[in-house]
Amino acid sequence: MPPVFGKEVDNEFRWPISQTRALAFLISPSPFPSPPRGEGGVKGIRSGKMLLDPFRRKINYLRISITDRCNLRCRYCMPEEGIPLIPHEEILTYEEILRIVRVFAAEGISKVRLTGGEPMVRKGIVDFVSRLSQIGEIKDLSLTTNGILLKEFAHDLKKAGLKRINVSLDSLRKERFCQITRKDDFERVWVGIEEALRVGLSPIKINMVAIQGLNDDEIESFARLTLHLPLIIRYIEYMPSGNGEEWKGSDILTIPQIKNRLESVGKLIPIPSDQWDGPAKRFRMEGALGEIGLIGPVSSHFCDDCNRLRLTSDGKIRACLFSDEEIDVKELLRNGGSDQNLKERLLVALREKPERHPIHTQQFKKCQRNMSAIGG
Ligand code: SAM
Ligand code: SF4
Repeated sequence: MPPVFGKEVDNEFRWPISQTRALAFLISPSPFPSPPRGEGGVKGIRSGKMLLDPFRRKINYLRISITDRCNLRCRYCMPEEGIPLIPHEEILTYEEILRIVRVFAAEGISKVRLTGGEPMVRKGIVDFVSRLSQIGEIKDLSLTTNGILLKEFAHDLKKAGLKRINVSLDSLRKERFCQITRKDDFERVWVGIEEALRVGLSPIKINMVAIQGLNDDEIESFARLTLHLPLIIRYIEYMPSGNGEEWKGSDILTIPQIKNRLESVGKLIPIPSDQWDGPAKRFRMEGALGEIGLIGPVSSHFCDDCNRLRLTSDGKIRACLFSDEEIDVKELLRNGGSDQNLKERLLVALREKPERHPIHTQQFKKCQRNMSAIGG
């Protein structure tokens, strides 16, 4: 059994990199800085404006897909040959995205996440992050990545003003990682995570999509990582979407099932959520350095806590991940639309935000867009 900071972990987990010593200095009594807040803490946010949707949900979060290109081919997300790509000229320029963010931030968006496709494959990302981070109203700037290029980019992104990252990782086993992503790059991702810890991108969240019969036997191994490392492991239910392998209801591991399994590892102590958490329910295991997050888009009342809008790489606002209703902002930007016009489109998106996603209804059909175009 491989030692992890002197403790033993289960047989299944193969500690990927021998140099775990590199992480030792990061272990401190309080590994997570408080989430970024407005002045005076959550209750005291004094931002002039607040966006509320018709169901009185506070919308403060914009997820931006900056590219639909990706350097992996995760089975649940896209086929081996990839998917038809959006032509380059249809992709929003960085300048256009910055304008949208400035206008939306003035209305109450204070949290931005960059995603993709794989955001790090887009040229010029460091400079773009640096410009985004200068928008004063944006209190929280983060990025979701598959981690392949993290070792190369972590330092520069941190310097450019990125606060934290989410790394998608569905297996701690080299062979299985390869089976899921169709690329033999597990160690590269792990070295990237180590580098992100080293440069102080914090907290680091690891997103694991738990799929029955594929990686469900690793749920406990992921949780054990939190005992010794300052990572937040987030379990996400497998969702029906786009062009990945055929989704079957029986493939889902629901959050209650995952929670049961985690309780065999140790007691889960709830951590109160705050406005930055969105639909994640947070827990910590006794004595753990890290945290656990549970996100149940399919089985739970996920929508009640939804705080977000999405911007696709070709300039459409999506008010709900599972709805194909989109509001075009690119066309507006490229035809001389004013900031006021942009703001009006934002308000239309808010107005159209459904109360709930339709997964459990008769009308439900998989969304037309692939996850890699929406950004997850
Ligand atoms: N390429 C980056 C990555 O993988 O982190 C960012 C884009 S990816 C589309 C964003 C997130 O969507 C990832 O965490 C991925 O695991 C998740 N995702 C993709 N397809 C999914 C599905 N069918 N069910 C649940 N999560 C999914
Ligand atoms: Fe690429 Fe992310 Fe989709 Fe995997 S989940 S294929 S890394 S976009």
